[in-house]
Amino acid sequence: MRAVDVIMKKRSGGELDREELAVIVDGYVAGTVPDYQVAAWAMAVFFKGMTPAETALLTQLMLDSGKRMDLSGLHGPAGREGPFVDKHSTGGVGDKVSLILAPLAASLGLRVPMMSGRALGHTGGTLDKLESIPGYRTGLTEKEFRSFIERDGYAMTGQTAEIVPADKKLYALRDVTGTVESIPLITASILSKKVAEGAESLVFDVKSGPGAFMKTVADAEALARSLVSTGAAMGKRIVGVITDMSEPLGKAVGNFFEVEESLDCLEGRGPSDLMEVTLRLGAWMLVIGGKAKEVEEGVALCEKSIGSGRPRELFLDNVWSQGGDVDRMLALRGNYRSGHRFELRAPSSGYVTAIDAWKIGLASVYLGVGRNTAADSVSPDVGLLFERKSGDRVDRGDLVAVVHGKDEASLAAARPLVEAALSIGPTAPAKRSLIIKEIRS
Ligand code: URA
Repeated sequence: MRAVDVIMKKRSGGELDREELAVIVDGYVAGTVPDYQVAAWAMAVFFKGMTPAETALLTQLMLDSGKRMDLSGLHGPAGREGPFVDKHSTGGVGDKVSLILAPLAASLGLRVPMMSGRALGHTGGTLDKLESIPGYRTGLTEKEFRSFIERDGYAMTGQTAEIVPADKKLYALRDVTGTVESIPLITASILSKKVAEGAESLVFDVKSGPGAFMKTVADAEALARSLVSTGAAMGKRIVGVITDMSEPLGKAVGNFFEVEESLDCLEGRGPSDLMEVTLRLGAWMLVIGGKAKEVEEGVALCEKSIGSGRPRELFLDNVWSQGGDVDRMLALRGNYRSGHRFELRAPSSGYVTAIDAWKIGLASVYLGVGRNTAADSVSPDVGLLFERKSGDRVDRGDLVAVVHGKDEASLAAARPLVEAALSIGPTAPAKRSLIIKEIRS
């Protein structure tokens, strides 16, 4: 069968079977189907969608394109053998939840095999944040991944060349062909990697709003349902939590800035929006991992554990295990700031009514937090530190944020976006929960 026949069938809205999907996926990995045909197929999928059965077949083919992490026979720390549970976010701005959640979940007896990604587009990446810690390594071998989970209860790694190579190629192609925001393609991309990493149960944080790939709650819900049903069909226990991504999460956007804020959270001093999302996702991890009966009990367990200081200890243990310099990281806290900076001050008096996450995400790429192409490097000491968020009262001239960039040109490029992201109005916006909806398998 020729790739062009598969493309034309999808272009006219047909349902592809296993053999037809394999022509694209296997052919792309083998190098016999070129980029331009896969790009045309991805665009046809973008416009025509896929049935749930097709999405499941695509996910399985992508998973089978590489090997899986083998976590069998692994012991937990000090003999604790909790289930393997992970959390994955569909991508946001200021979203450092994984850094806090992995040690938090491990402190409560779960084992967390976390395979994360880098910043791409306007969203930040867990690996870039972790690598801003001097010495920290995210390219773990399978042996290291296993041994760190065994010792600390969790490990943080990137996707290796052997894990889902089909996604490695396809994601990079989608990123430059306008085909990222497709529910079946996102489902197959995320789930194939998550199943390959070895987690038994998964919590998905499906972001919704201007700073997310899914801009509307309806689209986010469709993605959450697709992740939950496809994952359940692959034998996983799954929860999809739709959370708001209208405004950056927490007060810090930037690689090392977000490590600092994660430490604040682990010390019980985290901003309320970030803690609300973290505790809820942590609670769901405990519920699907069998450590809590219901989500409210899970939230209470998470709060108690943070109060004990144990998750912070595990975070430091993990930094040490993965080659990071713990003393230097702690010494850099509050000081690791590029000297190229400007202050965003309130242009009028009133209440902050919005800080547009999309504009801040784009600005952060200019500042050096993220990358425009996968080959770009990122800077550890740049980003935004907010003094005020939505609902806060400001007088004209009050400091809203300090913005650090890698050079003066990056600041000049980011400044109009940062200024346009801030809205001030006469009345405070109604306070609302960031947790929009929860969907269980
Ligand atoms: N994250 C992924 O890993 N894949 C996508 O397609 C979108 C977000």
